[in-house]
Order: sequence, then structure tokens, then C-alpha cells
Amino acid sequence: MTRILIRDGYVVTMNPKNQIIKGGSVLIDWDKIVAVGKDLKESADIVIDAGGKVVMPGLINCHTHLAMTLLRGVADDMELMPWLQTKIWPLEKHLNAERVRAGASLGALEMIKSGTTCFADQYFYMEEVAKAVDQSGIRGVLSYGIIEMESAEKRESELAAGEKLVRSCQGMANGRITTMFGPHAPYTCSTECLLKVKELARKYGVGIHTHIAETKWEYDEIKKKYGAHPVEYLDTIGFLGPEVLAAHSIYLAPHGISIYKNRGVKPVHNPVSNMKLGCGVSPVPEMLKSGIPVALGTDGAASNNTLDMINEMKFAALLNKVYKLSPTALPAEDVLKMATINGAKSLGMEKEIGSIEVGKKADIILVDLKKPHLTPVHNVVSHVVYSAVGGDVDTMIVDGKVLMQNRKVLTFEEAQVIKKAQDVSEEMLKEAGK
Ligand SMILES: [Zn+2]
Repeated sequence: MTRILIRDGYVVTMNPKNQIIKGGSVLIDWDKIVAVGKDLKESADIVIDAGGKVVMPGLINCHTHLAMTLLRGVADDMELMPWLQTKIWPLEKHLNAERVRAGASLGALEMIKSGTTCFADQYFYMEEVAKAVDQSGIRGVLSYGIIEMESAEKRESELAAGEKLVRSCQGMANGRITTMFGPHAPYTCSTECLLKVKELARKYGVGIHTHIAETKWEYDEIKKKYGAHPVEYLDTIGFLGPEVLAAHSIYLAPHGISIYKNRGVKPVHNPVSNMKLGCGVSPVPEMLKSGIPVALGTDGAASNNTLDMINEMKFAALLNKVYKLSPTALPAEDVLKMATINGAKSLGMEKEIGSIEVGKKADIILVDLKKPHLTPVHNVVSHVVYSAVGGDVDTMIVDGKVLMQNRKVLTFEEAQVIKKAQDVSEEMLKEAGK
């Protein structure tokens, strides 16, 4: 049993009282937090001096496509549908197990180095993603991206792939890996497919990770096809519920917010991807006001182009302020909640992660404030959201194990992961003639 004592930091607990303890310590026993407070005098196997550092819950990225790190920067400044149809989907035809493992390892490495301890993923060759997550030491909620395109045959094989992942990976890596079903979107999956997913998710007791109302095009398309806008349509067929993780959730009006609230849907805000693809702005302040625990995600690295959740928090705050023409529209405290405890709630894991509280899993990061751009220190929440970058995270602990200390990642050979990802990405582009 390893006991770790983190001493004398600015402990940002994200507990229900939003307590911040200056000169605070956290004691970890095995995989759990067993004490939080000032002047803990316990003995420990490992003592980490957190002087001048923020000690906070690991960040939770609730929507990404991890292996898309391989497509980082290959197609920028395009509309969503041509971006998907002429660039992303043709390149994805050249994915294979080995390449996804390389892209997922790169993504996991990037997440460790920027403070993300748990993420929700939707992509292909997910068993390979599971292997990368297992090795990395972080947590992953994995789903296979079901894209059906209205063929009954394809529907069956896609649903079977989704089910296979749930059966093979649920609870892997000492419970660090869990699963969901991942129907891509209401415009790439039929009503029959979505209802079958709903049934399967119920059967296995897992969630559903999907994209909803990302673009005006989707809004119009669904309205034309089903006579109702995406959220209304999905509600009418009985698809929505508390197990649904809904990335983007931009075009919700009218009634979409109250439908989400009534059904307990969990929206995920992806400000950078939405800005970069010119999609629009999700009504985040309104949803938070109505009590919906909106989470935060980066989306894939092809549309972001990083997995840096600290960066994402700043963009979330700024985008919503400029959209509302109000500096109070989305304060730093709310954004930090979105990236921690709300993320945990959205994944149904709030009893285990999302805050530094006794009894929770020890998923903790340290952010080093001894830097020019983080001096002077007064309000540490403001610093984490507005002044810090992912590279300021210097230590990460997940499930009670140290994954990174003083920026040195202990679970991956960093140079090797970077080289492999560069090589397979070049191979894919060459094969695709891009
Ligand atoms: Zn996405």
C-alpha cells in the first residue's frame, strides 16, 4: 500500500462549499483520498512538496476523439460537412489498429502533460484505445462511434461493434476504463438505430455518448426529415435520458433546454471546436442557470487542435462573455466546475471523482505557479482559468499512482510515442494521396 502526502499547497477542493485551503495538504492511501486539511502530520511513503503550487482535482474532458491527434493540423479553416466529407472521413479509411494505438497513446500523453485525468471518447478501433489508456494510467470512458448511413446491414455490424466494446472493456484496468455506446449523431444514425442503442445501453447499464445539434445544417436537415428540430425529435422517439452525454448542444431553441432539464441529458460544451468550425455558441449560461451540470470537452485534435483543457476553460469563459456582451456571463469558478465536478456528474462518476474529498479516488493534479505569467498569486482559480496553460501542470496522480512528476511522465517513453505518431500519420497521408 502506498501512502502519498501532498503538503502545503493551495488546495482547490471543488467540494460543495468550493473550499480553497491555503497551505493545505492531501493524504492518499492506496487509491483513495483519506484526509484533506491544514498541517496534516501523517507519515507517508512519498511526500510531495506542493509549495507555490495549486493542488486540484484532475480535469475531465467529456468529449473527444483521442486518436484524431494523428489528424492534427491536416485540415483547417473549412466548413464542418466538407471538412468531414473531403478530408477527415477519407483519411479515417486508412486507420488501422496499430495507427489508432499510436494516436491514442499520443493523445493520452498530451492529456497527462496538460492535466486531464479522465476523458470520454468516441472513435474506432476502441480496443486499441483501451490498451493505450491502460498503459497511460489515466481514466477513459470509451465508446465505439456508430455511423450507420441508413443501411440495415451496416446498422447491425455497427451495433455489434459497439456492443463488443462494452462487453470486452467495461471495468478494465482496475476499473479505470468504462464504456458507453456511441451513436455518432442524429444525421448519421436512423431512428431504428438510435432506439436499438437505447435498448442496449439499458441492457448493459452504460451511458450513450453522442453529438447533438452541432450545426445549423443539422438543425435544418433533421427538421426537414422528421418535422422537428434535433432535440425535439430525439425526445419524441424516447431517446433522451440521464445517460445521454450530448456533445455540442448548440441549436436547442425552442424548448431544448427544458427538454434537457426534464430528461436529465448531460450536455458537453466544446467552445474551441465550435469556434474553429464556425458552428455557433451553446447556451451554456442558460443551461447552468436551470441547474443542468454542463461539462466541458475539447473535441478531437483535428478540430481544436489540442487536448489542453486549461486552454479550453479560458475559451469557454471568453466565448460566452463575448456572445452575451457581458463579462459576468460565465465566471472562472463556473468554468472550473464544468471541467471537474460537472464532468464527473455527466459521466455518472461524481461519487468517485471530480473533487478533492475524503473517500474519493485520488485523481489529483498540481499546477506550478512559480512562473512569470502566474505571479503574483492572489486568486488561484482565476490563475488556473485565465493565466495558466496545460504546460504549467507539473504533477499528476490518478487512482493513487503518480503518472507525472516535475513534468516527467512515468508511464510512457515520451520521445518514442511522439516519433511513432509522426510516422503513422505520415503513412496515412501518403496512402490517402493527401
Ligand atoms: Zn466530436
